[in-house]
Amino acid sequence: MTIGIKEHPDAEVQKNRVLTLDDWQDKWVTRHIAFHQEQGHQLLKKHFDTFLKGQSGLRVFFPLCGKAIEMKWFADRGHTVVGVEISEIGIREFFAEQNLSYTEEPLTEIAGAKVFKVCTDYEFFREHFLILLQHFRPSQIKRNNLSLPSLWSRANIGKFDRIWDRGALVAVNPGDRDRYADIILSLLRKGYHYLLVVLSYDPTKHTGPPFYVPDAELKKLFGTKCNMQCLEEVDALEERHKTWGVDYFFEKLYLLTEK
Ligand code: SAH
Repeated sequence: MTIGIKEHPDAEVQKNRVLTLDDWQDKWVTRHIAFHQEQGHQLLKKHFDTFLKGQSGLRVFFPLCGKAIEMKWFADRGHTVVGVEISEIGIREFFAEQNLSYTEEPLTEIAGAKVFKVCTDYEFFREHFLILLQHFRPSQIKRNNLSLPSLWSRANIGKFDRIWDRGALVAVNPGDRDRYADIILSLLRKGYHYLLVVLSYDPTKHTGPPFYVPDAELKKLFGTKCNMQCLEEVDALEERHKTWGVDYFFEKLYLLTEK
């Protein structure tokens, strides 16, 4: 489905923009986290059942998860959720706000990284409602000059049946998109469904993040490996976007499946 939003002609304008992991950590410290949606994402809510296809016991990946409450939606249905997040504040807030107690352990494969897991005495919950979050310390990343995506593969987080990518690809520095896409593709299991939210706005008006990812670039990143279907294109302009100087702001929901 498309309602004819034009590609912005100046799509390259954000391409050299770089946010460091410290910049992201600072956003959490200074509470610049307007990206967080208290009610969860309405498009995921709408497509939730078709996304799950009635299957149980799926492994669901949340790249750059923040404290997205949607993780709980999947866990409550018995799916295993894995999130990756750089901010320990975000991770702890997620568990606190969802009333989940958790354990934390160092990740053996990667010095400085941690795994947070839901802990409970209730065995069914422990087996089927596992939420695991990984935290990578920026100092460690700088020392080894490793981007986060390469760490993900070393962390051995397994393969996934579903990916919910909102505020993730659009938050990755534009120069890191190729690497991000390669890693995401390497994490997909046969029969996967990958839901991806991208944004359409005038990138000359706002430096990002979130960044504008043109459709042509999406096709380049995923089009050879995946079938890509645009499920929705909705007007998502809010007051906070207007303060950035943009006068249109659309969200596009793509479903990527195996070719
Ligand atoms: N997906 C979430 C959060 C979106 S904002 C949601 O829908 O609410 C992007 C998040 O990614 C922030 O929480 C930020 O701290 C985290 N982040 C940014 N770069 C990261 C990186 N390279 N590795 C891990 N987390 C990162």
